[in-house]
Amino acid sequence: TIGMLALDEEGNLSGACTTSGMAYKMAGRIGDSPIIGAGLFVDNEIGAATATGMGEEVVKTVGSFLVVELMRQGYNPQEACEEAINRIVKNNSKYKDIQVGYIALNKKGEYGGYCIQKGFNYQVYQNEGHQNIPGASYL
Ligand code: ASP
Repeated sequence: TIGMLALDEEGNLSGACTTSGMAYKMAGRIGDSPIIGAGLFVDNEIGAATATGMGEEVVKTVGSFLVVELMRQGYNPQEACEEAINRIVKNNSKYKDIQVGYIALNKKGEYGGYCIQKGFNYQVYQNEGHQNIPGASYL
């Protein structure tokens, strides 16, 4: 998945995602990316989140909606992504074999990212500069 989240000069949030789907997927499989709340969720009062990886796990936890709701409850974007990954890991004995990652951005412009496997990086473009952020991971 390619997921993008943005906060404009007027403080409005937006987001988008695409998907490459999964290799060898069943005909008709949809995945999380086109499902609002799963692969992407934006609430202009609170924040935005998007997911990549094993869509089934994201759909089951309504992951991007969960990240935004956690931010509504006071989690910062990093903490919200971590808690959403924890929800997947704690109910899934096979978590070491799957990858799910989230990025999140809140209304204040704070951001975070977290994933199950190592090696997940994301880019931040801010004040006309790019930054590569090495994403923290569960494993
Ligand atoms: N999240 C996508 C899916 O499950 C896969 C991806 O592009 O990361 O369909």
